[in-house]
Amino acid sequence: MIKFLDLHKINNRFREEFKVSFSKSLEDSYYILGNNVSNFESEFANYCGTNFCVGTANGLDALTLILKGYIQLGKLKKGDKVIVPANTFIATILSVLHADLIPVLVEPNPNTYNISVDAIKKNLDGVKAIIMVHLYGQLCDVESLQQLAKDYKLLLIEDAAQAHGAISKYNNSKAGNLSHAAAFSFYPSKNLGALGDGGAVTTNDSELVEVIKLLRNYGSTEKYTNKIIGFNSRLDDMQAAFLRIKLKTLDADNERRQEIAKLYLMGINSSKIKLPFYEGANNHIFYTFVIEVGDRLGFTKFLDLHKIEWLIHYPIPPHKQEALQSFSDLKLPVTEAIHERIISLPMSPVMPNEDVQKVIDVLNSY
Ligand SMILES: *Cc1c(COP(=O)(O)O)cnc(C)c1O
Repeated sequence: MIKFLDLHKINNRFREEFKVSFSKSLEDSYYILGNNVSNFESEFANYCGTNFCVGTANGLDALTLILKGYIQLGKLKKGDKVIVPANTFIATILSVLHADLIPVLVEPNPNTYNISVDAIKKNLDGVKAIIMVHLYGQLCDVESLQQLAKDYKLLLIEDAAQAHGAISKYNNSKAGNLSHAAAFSFYPSKNLGALGDGGAVTTNDSELVEVIKLLRNYGSTEKYTNKIIGFNSRLDDMQAAFLRIKLKTLDADNERRQEIAKLYLMGINSSKIKLPFYEGANNHIFYTFVIEVGDRLGFTKFLDLHKIEWLIHYPIPPHKQEALQSFSDLKLPVTEAIHERIISLPMSPVMPNEDVQKVIDVLNSY
């Protein structure tokens, strides 16, 4: 069996370091917002090139707290419209709804799968913010989006949950430092994954940081003093300890993913398969390697027969989900076509070359 993503193998590389950290935490007995959180926050801000990082409980909360933070600061108000890609993981859209804002779903570019700047321009009426999602690990057309945000005085927010460490080819800035504020998820399967839930906001906006630090902790920075109506959405100290260890290997892991992507791109030559768009640069860190096929059901049976694991990111577009029925009448043909054809191949930093070759050989016999 060729695993889609061998999380045990990924994390087992750090077993001894994890144990040391765990023992130290057990000794220190400081479980909530301890030194591991503050140290991880400065290390991750430093890694992303931002002035600030605030840990949160997960990626959805990171997004939601950015939006609620801007509402608190008066830069957004309830009912404002926020542009989001139509073909994202549902969390992006949920964050807008949880902040009492209105999501405007916009079609992607069918080659990069990232939000289409032209499509945004047709939907700008009443819009106050854009959330760009660096889908599958590939940065959006950041330069155009930054220009657009500037021209129309919009807030630009990144959903960087799939793009830890991706680097812009225009100015060498990293994901997390390409907008006014960025949200990360450290869900175990992400390129930087914890051993449980975790998330973070990165930004250069000191006012926003102060508000998010309040929001994540009951509106409080001083115990039992509550300044605003907050939540409980703190990054767990033990998870922060694990993330500090794994952050050191993130760049090497991303390089290995790019190496595998290049092997796939060179090796797979079936005319029935559409390969992903990749410029060969560091602006894509291959959270997933997504191909398109016409007969997806037949193709998945073929992969099952050859014992190759696969996943679909994602099988149902958000506007066709039962939870988002009010969006079900939207006409989003590009998004719907993509969701019917995409399938993700095995991809991970611990995947050996022989497994990559086996996948290539099987696909070429399809
Ligand atoms: C994983 C993910 C999220 C949400 O992260 P959680 O930590 O699971 O809340 C948000 N957006 C995108 C694009 C994601 O892939």
